[in-house]
Amino acid sequence: MARQDLRQRLADGRPLVMDGAMGSELQRRGVWVSHGATDAALGAWSATAMRDAPEVVREVHDDYFRAGADLAITNSFWTNSVKLGLAGLGDKAEAYTRLSAEIAVESRDRLRPQAYVAGGMAPPLGGREEIGVDAEHLPREFAMQARALKDGGADCILVEYIGHVADVVAAVDAVSPTGLPVMVGLRHIRNDGTMQHGESYAELVDALGDRKVDAILLMCSHPQAISVGLPLLRAAFDGAIGAYPNHGYGKQAHKLDDQHQWHSLDTESYGPAHLAADGTAWLAMGAQIVGGCCSTTPDHIAALRSVVPEG
Ligand SMILES: [Zn+2]
Repeated sequence: MARQDLRQRLADGRPLVMDGAMGSELQRRGVWVSHGATDAALGAWSATAMRDAPEVVREVHDDYFRAGADLAITNSFWTNSVKLGLAGLGDKAEAYTRLSAEIAVESRDRLRPQAYVAGGMAPPLGGREEIGVDAEHLPREFAMQARALKDGGADCILVEYIGHVADVVAAVDAVSPTGLPVMVGLRHIRNDGTMQHGESYAELVDALGDRKVDAILLMCSHPQAISVGLPLLRAAFDGAIGAYPNHGYGKQAHKLDDQHQWHSLDTESYGPAHLAADGTAWLAMGAQIVGGCCSTTPDHIAALRSVVPEG
């Protein structure tokens, strides 16, 4: 099947299954993803896998495409010079970013040619709460990554794991010169369904103004928070919307009484059937793109695929 123009595909309204986690899946497969880590921060996380284990990155993409993913995210979440700098690899940022796209595109072309590759990137300073709006690193690194991902063959750009309205605007401005469709992933949605710092989706849409954003997704958040937030997002934004939750909650920490996000490899408390059920509900709320974030596996995406009709 030939691959349809992504913007046309989104306008059609037919659902797309996104892939699941990359970093936790690499960890599960024995790749060391803690280079540069400290007690306070994750370090370079999966970015160093572009040096240490590019063939495992390819295997993860292969498994998600075999599970039926329509949209894969490149392993470029933190392949920026700031995060790679923590591991002494800052000068490799552009090369690793481009390679992440080339590997995903090769896997897609071989296994599921009708699917899309989203060139992903996250704020260079990470998700630490004490860090406010990042006016310095984010525009510079996102512009570099967007160019490299386009060169590597990505079909669209996904700026993800963003908490502040101002950072979303800066991110869209940084990547839009590529001309590729732009998707936005909003992290750590609050229990009341609003953005991480309490900003509303109406405020976000107002701030974006005339900028072209092709999809907004709620991501790396508790599934129940996403269920509260999606109708609010639907009411505020006319474009495509979607969700890919964080399932990486330890059993002891799987609670909603604070805003903490917990990452683990536990898949028992939120297994493939849970994601399939939530995905079905989110599609009914107007979501068009559904997938998985931290700790989700190819089994989760296969379960999601089983309840989402093939486009
Ligand atoms: Zn996540």
